[in-house]
Amino acid sequence: MRIEISAMLQKEGQREELTFSTEHGIPLEDFGSYHFTAPLAFKGTLLSEADRIVRLRGEIIVNWQSACVRCLNEVTREEVILVDEQIYPPGYHAELNRSYAEYGLDYTDPEDPLGHEELMFHDGTHVELDKLFSDLVLLALPIGVYCADDCPGLCPTCGRRLDDAACHCENSLRANSPFDKLL
Ligand SMILES: [Zn+2]
Ligand SMILES: [Zn+2]
Repeated sequence: MRIEISAMLQKEGQREELTFSTEHGIPLEDFGSYHFTAPLAFKGTLLSEADRIVRLRGEIIVNWQSACVRCLNEVTREEVILVDEQIYPPGYHAELNRSYAEYGLDYTDPEDPLGHEELMFHDGTHVELDKLFSDLVLLALPIGVYCADDCPGLCPTCGRRLDDAACHCENSLRANSPFDKLL
């Protein structure tokens, strides 16, 4: 999805509302164990700031499906990702380099919070949202998916979940659970 921004770049403080639903959103490709069950939805604004920087603010909504890393049960979730990103004009690196150099600083300093890799760019006339959104989504996905915080995992003997009443194996939680008497 390409958004025309030439007009908004003419003047600071111009705002454009952006809304797309899960039906008319951006399709996402599967990533690792993640399968996206609906296109990405977004609601927010683009705002033109000083120095032809555009700011994207809003909420991304993604619906994904994956497997619990302990019990392999399917997990589906709707994830809301808050977005507040500045999108820089082409050539902004060169400008930064120049202004840093004026103060005798090196812009390529690895300690610099504005490290090269972190910046997102528009091309002077358009913002390409697909790449930007998919980058933000990949950053926001949890490293490990759990069906529940206390998921006990699988019984290594019978393969059932350890809290499954049908598992009577020695290694199960049930074998020495204080709740045995209640069953
Ligand atoms: Zn689980
Ligand atoms: Zn078992």
